[in-house]
Amino acid sequence: MEPSSAATVSGDPGPEPSPADLLRRLRARGAGDPVTHVERVPARAGVPAPWPSWAPAELREAFARRGVVAPWQHQAEAATLAYDGGHVVVATGTASGKSLAYQLPSLATLLADPRATVLYLAPTKALAADQLRAVAGLELEGVRPACYDGDTPRAEREWIRRHSRFVLTNPDMLHHGILPGHAQWSGFLRRLAYVVIDECHTYRGVFGSHVAHVLRRLRRQCARFGATPVFVLASATSGDPATAAGRLTGLPVTAVTEDASPRGGVTFALWEPPLLPPDSSASSAVAPAQAAGGHDDVPDLVQVRRSALRETADLLADTVAEGVRTLAFVRSRKGAEVVAASARRALDEAVPGLGKRVAAYRGGYLREERRELERALLHGDLLGLASTNALELGVDLVGLDAVLICGYPGTRASLWQQAGRAGRSGQEALAVLVARDDPLDTYLVHHPEAIFGAPVEATVLDPANPYVLAPQLACAAAEAPLTPADLALFGDGAKEAVDELVAAGALRQRPTGWYWRHRERPEVDLRGEGGAPVCVVESATGRLLGTVDGGSSHFLLHPGAVYLHQGVSYVVDELDLADGCALVHTEEPDWSTHARDVTDLSVVSVRSYVDAGPVGMFLGEVDVTSQVVSYQRRRIATGEVIDTRPLDLPTRELRTVAVWFTLSPQSLTAAGVQAADVPGALHAAEHAAIGLLPLMATCDRWDIGGLSTAVHPDTEAPTVFVYDGHPGGAGFAERAYGTASAWLRATRDAIAECGCEAGCPSCVQSPKCGNGNHPLSKPDAIRVLDVVLANLPA
Ligand SMILES: [Zn+2]
Ligand SMILES: [Zn+2]
Repeated sequence: MEPSSAATVSGDPGPEPSPADLLRRLRARGAGDPVTHVERVPARAGVPAPWPSWAPAELREAFARRGVVAPWQHQAEAATLAYDGGHVVVATGTASGKSLAYQLPSLATLLADPRATVLYLAPTKALAADQLRAVAGLELEGVRPACYDGDTPRAEREWIRRHSRFVLTNPDMLHHGILPGHAQWSGFLRRLAYVVIDECHTYRGVFGSHVAHVLRRLRRQCARFGATPVFVLASATSGDPATAAGRLTGLPVTAVTEDASPRGGVTFALWEPPLLPPDSSASSAVAPAQAAGGHDDVPDLVQVRRSALRETADLLADTVAEGVRTLAFVRSRKGAEVVAASARRALDEAVPGLGKRVAAYRGGYLREERRELERALLHGDLLGLASTNALELGVDLVGLDAVLICGYPGTRASLWQQAGRAGRSGQEALAVLVARDDPLDTYLVHHPEAIFGAPVEATVLDPANPYVLAPQLACAAAEAPLTPADLALFGDGAKEAVDELVAAGALRQRPTGWYWRHRERPEVDLRGEGGAPVCVVESATGRLLGTVDGGSSHFLLHPGAVYLHQGVSYVVDELDLADGCALVHTEEPDWSTHARDVTDLSVVSVRSYVDAGPVGMFLGEVDVTSQVVSYQRRRIATGEVIDTRPLDLPTRELRTVAVWFTLSPQSLTAAGVQAADVPGALHAAEHAAIGLLPLMATCDRWDIGGLSTAVHPDTEAPTVFVYDGHPGGAGFAERAYGTASAWLRATRDAIAECGCEAGCPSCVQSPKCGNGNHPLSKPDAIRVLDVVLANLPA
């Protein structure tokens, strides 16, 4: 590190460089220019709106006491839609004041009708507690807001059911407590005017599909008591929020997406770490993979780019040397410590003592310690902080001069939440996204429109999943017999599911409907994702740390796996599948683990397809047999592969939903793909396609799997499959099918735009590959995707 002048090296909060100047200096440090794009996100003045005429004076005054003098345009618009009886989702940026959009109509209704009630649902208890404070702080007469969750003392529960008119809870409590006990809640449900669903984008995949049916069960109970509540939802910005909210509630929902709140200006840079010289990686990568994988001559994941952690550490040292208050977001706590330690070392080498102005934030601080940290950063005693996103919980840090984001955090919502830490009032700030070696990161730094343009990533769920629908119908029947009219409420496949429940002896059909036959209620875990969840237990203390759904357990909890829980690192000693538990101990090794599986797949049925000449695109049911066979250990700081170790785990069978495409062998030959290169071409395309799917749907690598083959017995053609990793599907493959040309276009571009020669982890290699990333052909993958895109209708 070479600080530019003595004056800035001291770290004195003197005149700070503008974001543009700072960025110019940062990018001039290395040889090439790592910046692929700079976006100036201009400051925006808020657009206030008058209070709606229906908002009572008492409510306006209560908000005014809390500093809200007028709503922003989007708040007023959503509030009025809801007050007029329409279901509405407000999908705007972080800190845009979404809560006012539902507080206004629901509280106005409570004031106008002294009998009306409101049910508020949050994904976490902490958020519900925050909202309770906000609503209680308005001090409105007769509202009596209260949280009702697993922590609520028995003694208070009855009082809440009888007297609270604004109950805050979560979907789990609604499912396990409120709906089964609907008789005790009849007074509340009969008068229910609004259902508020906060952070509704978190209800995705299998969990989201369960919640969709819990909401249908709620609507059914309300209807029995004669109530038809209005649904108001709040979402992070996403692609097509109205459709997602409609699927979640089963109702037509209007979206309000125009954000009218003010924000500070940000200079946002996309940063791609440079490729390393070819010889520097050879020694670290090839040899160790032979130990277990059996691919003696196969190059394994070769480190080709400088690691995002190293790059972030250097940037942190450089910004701190400039006297700039900087926060670096890193995925794991170990990673955050590596970044902080490396930045401290670089600073101390330049100016002894300067290193102590950089710290790593470790989760689990006491409240006073967190306040001390905030104070130190605010006053400039501390200039640099490296943190996991655990910081999002409980530390109030705003007004930083720069934010470094090490690796795309998975969703645009998280990205903007992290970038949103930068910027003091009226001042410009700098945000830098440092790409990791991952196809999605590579794509994003070369396609800024995917970050700064209209969002395409949608929240997906699939309420028709039979593995979700059947147990949810059983719960509904246990609450009250199902009638034919109810089946329409639960949507496609409900009749078939009920017939199967009858055949299985769970329901009995009578002239008046379907009755639950057992004394006990059905046991259904909303977050179980099919398959029994595996408990993670700390051996030394017997403490239950959490659960992992059965489907992911082989990947995440195999013996030797490094398991991260709330930023703390554990190593798995034993995975006991018979007992459904994994025994772990705390340990922070300087490597991460990556499990790999091998897969077999057969087509059960085709749900939909597009016949595009030599190319076919399909959506349907498949049976997948997979086995996690080994895992790789990689150095956290450098990404270097240490070794690959074998595992002895049973195979898993999965009936799920897949998207797949086929190509005629002739079309491949015509495109210049030699027959011998077809397997490598398809395999490379499959890896990149899986890596890019999170661009279209909020999912991660563990939610999806893939298989490619030069000839598949069921399609009799070269085929690439991408499937949902959860029993019955979760909506990811369906979304991929619906956006196939955009998805595969992005996949093609990510491969073509990666600067490597023969394929690397930033484009076609996958850390999850059960075949040791062999065979792979990067140029032929581009040819394959070109054939698909040339034939597929846009
Ligand atoms: Zn590459
Ligand atoms: Zn593979």
